Amino acid sequence: MNKSLRPAVIAGNWKMNKTPAQTTELINEMKPLVADAACDVVLCVPFVDLQAALAAAEGSNIKIGAQNCHFEKSGAFTGEISADMLKELGVTYVIIGHSERRTYFGETDVTVNKRTLAALNAGLTAIVCVGEYLEQREQGVTNELVALQTKIALQNVTEGDLSKIIIAYEPVWAIGTGRTATADQANEVCAVIRETIAGLYGKAAADSVTIQYGGSMNAANADELVGKPDVDGGLIGGASLVAKDFAVIVAAASK
Ligand code: PEP
Repeated sequence: MNKSLRPAVIAGNWKMNKTPAQTTELINEMKPLVADAACDVVLCVPFVDLQAALAAAEGSNIKIGAQNCHFEKSGAFTGEISADMLKELGVTYVIIGHSERRTYFGETDVTVNKRTLAALNAGLTAIVCVGEYLEQREQGVTNELVALQTKIALQNVTEGDLSKIIIAYEPVWAIGTGRTATADQANEVCAVIRETIAGLYGKAAADSVTIQYGGSMNAANADELVGKPDVDGGLIGGASLVAKDFAVIVAAASK
């Protein structure tokens, strides 16, 4: 397994945290701490913080992402934001299908696929989240389930578009719980995702796709998790709100 075939990406998911003024403050604090990163650094902030984030990150190595986008280009979808709107602002990444959207906002594998295609059509990089609930892990169906989620998310995604796809393996039981998957558990499922992509597009294509782990990754456990051969960085919730912790995770993925 050759990790140099794909970039490691550390992406922060700020969820529903920080006002625009707080966004500017936190990014200004982070910038010098991650300036020497040898991995890609992304912050996915709330929609209303995007402009402040883009302004604060300008000229730095921090890229800015959103946390969702709608699958239609425009229309009667009150409260939604299209991928084209994000693109015009200067946003380059978008999280799709986070488990909180699946659990609380009715997101399904089918809408995840539609949103992924919309993001790609707008030229955004999609960070597509997959992962099992605790009950599913206990039932022993994690690998099949995550493979299926990955296959559905990638329906009609061309091989050429794979360079704009990141898959984030996020076991739901590990998100925001302080309970992290072991590095071996994370690596096993990331490898299953890569095999699934290889089955769809071939091994060379699969080796070029960044596959992150997410779920209570922090400054203390990042080294071990991102050191695994199939784990190409992380999607970070809580720890991405603390500049020095986020910087330690970025440094771990830069080795
Ligand atoms: C996430 O929001 O994607 C996440 C992994 O959160 P946390 O790191 O807080 O578990």
